[in-house]
Amino acid sequence: MRLDKFLSHMGYGTRSEVKVLIKSKAIEINNTVAKNGSTHVNELEDQVSVYGEVVEYREFIYLMMNKPPGVVSATEDSRDQTVIDLLDDDVRHFEPYPVGRLDKDTVGLLLLTNDGALTHRLLSPKKDVPKVYYAKVAGRVTESDVEAFKEGVILDDGYHTKPGHLHILKSDQISEIELTITEGKFHQVKRMFQSVDKEVIYLKRLSMGALKLDNSLEEGSYRELTTEELISLE
Ligand code: URA
Repeated sequence: MRLDKFLSHMGYGTRSEVKVLIKSKAIEINNTVAKNGSTHVNELEDQVSVYGEVVEYREFIYLMMNKPPGVVSATEDSRDQTVIDLLDDDVRHFEPYPVGRLDKDTVGLLLLTNDGALTHRLLSPKKDVPKVYYAKVAGRVTESDVEAFKEGVILDDGYHTKPGHLHILKSDQISEIELTITEGKFHQVKRMFQSVDKEVIYLKRLSMGALKLDNSLEEGSYRELTTEELISLE
């Protein structure tokens, strides 16, 4: 990789900012002052330092966010704030993106990464990765809904969902439930309830595979995954 790209990727500014660092002789490759941004560096073998401090190379970033309502889980949007807008520059330069989508009004667990292989494993329909949602639903959720979800329900476009595990926490005018599904169709939870004539009025994702939302994360905040969490997703 080019030196300027490497440093930019590691968070040392834009390529032109990196150029200034190189000009001011702040950069060394294997203890030799670097002269040119186009110099090739082997990110695993060469030792690059900035003002004498060795740059620790890392390629991937893994962030857990407690998505707040009102932001879209996209990398860019012409109208709305995105989850990427909530990230600080020190992680943003890794160019993470959300793994799957949550609706604008949905809150809870959102994984952001730049690791395409992990993204593929988590989103592949073949992998049946379970996602657990907590929801408040207008209307009384009953055992017959539990049975219907167990069989899979027919959505408004005729799609027959895979079985969902519906657990009723409270059955009332406003019910509270937990639903585990292994798919990620557009508005899936809301449309599954629509199919049994009920409306989801609050939706929060609690987990994705082995990854559970850290309850100490405020809505809108995020942190890097721990090594254990990352291993649990492998
Ligand atoms: N199902 C939905 O309906 N919305 C989400 O955001 C996630 C799952």
